[in-house]
Order: sequence, then structure tokens, then C-alpha cells
Amino acid sequence: MRGIVTYDRRDLRALREMGLLDRRPRLHVFYEIKSVLGRTDPPVPGVHNMISCFGDNRAVQRDPGLAAVGPGGMRAVRGTPYFDWDWVCPSDEGYRRSLLDLVARAAAQAVAGIRLDTVGFPREGFCRCPRCQAAQRASGLDEETWRAATMTAFIREAVARARTPRAAADAGGGAAPRADGGNPTPSGSVPPPEPAPAPRPVSVTLYPDPFGDHLFRRFGLDVAQLGRLVDFFVMPIYDLHYSTTYWVEALAWGFRDLLGDVPFVVELYALNVDRKGLLKAARVADAYADGILLAYERAPEAVGILDELGPPPSHSRLAG
Ligand SMILES: [Zn+2]
Repeated sequence: MRGIVTYDRRDLRALREMGLLDRRPRLHVFYEIKSVLGRTDPPVPGVHNMISCFGDNRAVQRDPGLAAVGPGGMRAVRGTPYFDWDWVCPSDEGYRRSLLDLVARAAAQAVAGIRLDTVGFPREGFCRCPRCQAAQRASGLDEETWRAATMTAFIREAVARARTPRAAADAGGGAAPRADGGNPTPSGSVPPPEPAPAPRPVSVTLYPDPFGDHLFRRFGLDVAQLGRLVDFFVMPIYDLHYSTTYWVEALAWGFRDLLGDVPFVVELYALNVDRKGLLKAARVADAYADGILLAYERAPEAVGILDELGPPPSHSRLAG
């Protein structure tokens, strides 16, 4: 896989004008329709629609009670240690519903895929708000097991919506499916069934920590379970220089070991990054990953760097 990540509609326009959204081999474009800022755009066809799930500054600003709460009453918000954005408690029913509705609205469009971003608890020991404590008690599970079960259930539901056209239609975003397979035409003949909608790959962003059970303990992500639900994972491995790359290589290999048969791509930070260092980082990650995404550089520049990088590696399971 070769692709770019952007939150800027100007990039989408530029790519369209350059005819790059339709080129083969495919350029995969990931566009943030909902960012951690809480800004939400209408779904965009033809690209992977990225949805920031539990990172949402605007939601917490509007309702401070939505913030996830950790040990000692620490709130998972900006301005406290560890957090670059505000994290919403994953047990809030109304907020979860709004996320799932957004997934369904995106699924109603001819999107290239749906990517769930900032999906997880903010950190180990979170969330211990009254909602979560009550839910955990009711489950009879210990805290870590309950957290993972909660996150797996959310992702399972999101994936189901992402893949079910009816769920999309029920959300009011698409044409209603015909229950009987087609109404008779005036001549009495039954028109051929509509082609099945193209499969929509669903991906999930993981924090770049493949060590031991860190993802499970820190974020409540059971990657063995999630690997059966999603099509691939994305690991952002960011740096401003990539002046050394051994750590990029080590992390990419770690994920290869952790994920086994489940494909993954590495997302590198590309805005104003020295091209030589960036290309070196991309090449070492490519040795283990199924492809590379470049984030936040202007689209024409990023496409030029990807062209210099060349096609996906021969071992890629996401070469199309
Ligand atoms: Zn909570």
C-alpha cells in the first residue's frame, strides 16, 4: 500500500485535479472526517474516511463530564501529564451512538475504506468514572478484561456498520435497499439485482508499542481479537527528522511478530521532513510492513516522495 494522510480538503482537490485519486497502482488517501479537535466533516467518497473515536476536544469542552477519569481522579484532558488531546469516556452511550452513526453515514457513501482512529481507553487505569465502574461491576469481569471486552465490542459494532449497507441506509445517509430484490418494471420483467457494494476495508490505528501486552494493558486493545475483525492496522511512527531509523525498523518488526497474519502499514510524519531521512525510514519500515502512508505533507509533495520510494514491497498483502 502507498498512501497519504490529510485533514486538508485542499489536498483532496489537488489530488483530484492531478487525476491521482483514480490512478493505478492505487494511491490510498486517508482523510480525517472527524479529528481529535472534534471537527466533523461530511463523509467523502473515494477515500478512506478517518474517524477520531475517543479523542475529541470539542465534546469534552462542551460537556466536561464526558472526560475519561483515571487513578486518583486524573482527567484525561490536555494540560495534564500524558495527554495531547481530550479523551472521552468510552462508556457514554450518547457519544458512542454518535460515533456509530458517523460510521454508518460514511458507509452509505462510496468510500474507499473507514479507519477508526484514537480508539481505546486513554491509558492504563482509565476509565474509572461512575459509568465505567458500574458497567464493570455489572459485567463481573476484572478491570483489564472488562476494558478489552468493552473496546472489542465497540469496534465489532463499528465494523458491522462499516460493512452493512442497510445499517448505512437506516442511518439516513443512503438509498433504501429494496426488500424484495426489485420492483417489477412496467413491462412486468424484474430488473437485474444491483451489484453488491464494493467491500470497504476497515482499519484501526494502533499506538506504536508492539511490546508484550502493552496495547492490552494500556488501551484495552486485544489485538488478537481485533485482528479477526479489521482488514488492517495502521501504526503512526512519527519523528520530525528520522535522522536515525533503527527504532523505526525495530518497531515495524515488532508489529510483524505481534500481528502475524494481519496486515499493517506504517504511517510516517512527512511535513517538512528531510526527504533523505524520510525515504530511509520508509524503506526500513517497508521491509516488515505492508506499505507506507505519509502524513500531513502537501499532497503533491507527498506523492512525489512516494513515487521516489517506488511500489509496495513484494511481500505486501495490501499491494492493490
Ligand atoms: Zn468512563
